[in-house]
Amino acid sequence: MYKPFLFTLLMYLSAAAQAQDKLADKYEWQAIAPGMWAHYGLIEDFSPANRGDISNAGLVVGARCAAIIDTGGSPSVGKAQLAAAKALTDKPICYVINTHVHPDHVMGNVVYKTEPAIQFAGNAKLAPAMRSRGRIYLNAMQRELKEHAAGAEMMPPSLIVSDELTIDLGARRLLLKAWPTAHTDHDLTVFDESTGTLWTGDLLFVSHAPVVDGSVKGWQQVLKQMESLKVQRVVPGHGKALGAWPSDLKAQGHYLQQIESDMRDAIKRGKSLPQALAEQDTAPARIGNNWQLLESFHKRNLTAVYAELEWE
Ligand SMILES: [Zn+2]
Repeated sequence: MYKPFLFTLLMYLSAAAQAQDKLADKYEWQAIAPGMWAHYGLIEDFSPANRGDISNAGLVVGARCAAIIDTGGSPSVGKAQLAAAKALTDKPICYVINTHVHPDHVMGNVVYKTEPAIQFAGNAKLAPAMRSRGRIYLNAMQRELKEHAAGAEMMPPSLIVSDELTIDLGARRLLLKAWPTAHTDHDLTVFDESTGTLWTGDLLFVSHAPVVDGSVKGWQQVLKQMESLKVQRVVPGHGKALGAWPSDLKAQGHYLQQIESDMRDAIKRGKSLPQALAEQDTAPARIGNNWQLLESFHKRNLTAVYAELEWE
């Protein structure tokens, strides 16, 4: 190879590697209340460029120790998250709380395995979900995220929440609550009693199209129950809350109601699933919002809802 060209190529490759490192190191925690930070992931599908940083996460620090709520979509994100958390607190991280099994929320878990005081917490049905879906998720992640997936493994919870459980970070209590089947069959929320902050996991999507992987009917029931919670501040699983509770739940409730009624109507008229999908109408006024990533999730949602309603 002609030498100056080789040199230029090497310079280019090393600049590219540095840019990659920068991306991998970048992780922003936004302070949202005393001793509490939120990370807002990108509203995107998994890609090597975002390395799976596509869901929200939390850091809550008490007098004794700190808790992480969800760990991002790859070990690479988890590593950046942990480093950024350690820059904010010298308290040991004693809990990783997972809101549900989806890979964008749990694939950073493995990074916390070596933290001395760590316990993983999740819904009682999270471990079975990890067992049944883990292999598929790990394979998909290796395919989609390449080197960012290196070292990935599922870390099931050691602290199980069947109904409600309060954990104490030292003068700071977090209420973990397991919900009936909604977004998934094992959703968990985290409520910080001292600031009235609710971390909803994917029970609430804002801006990002909602994803039905549990029950469209169950989810609407859960939203009704959530409406009555006294909440000062909310961090959804995706997107940023508008700051008004419970009206932050409205657009998503509208979407779920609409897709349920559309699929029920199609079934009543004897339409097959492909026919029902062909009829879809995604005008924002009909489905509650100008949802982002609708093309990735809407048909999948309709398919899940059709299957749920078909035999009722
Ligand atoms: Zn999810």
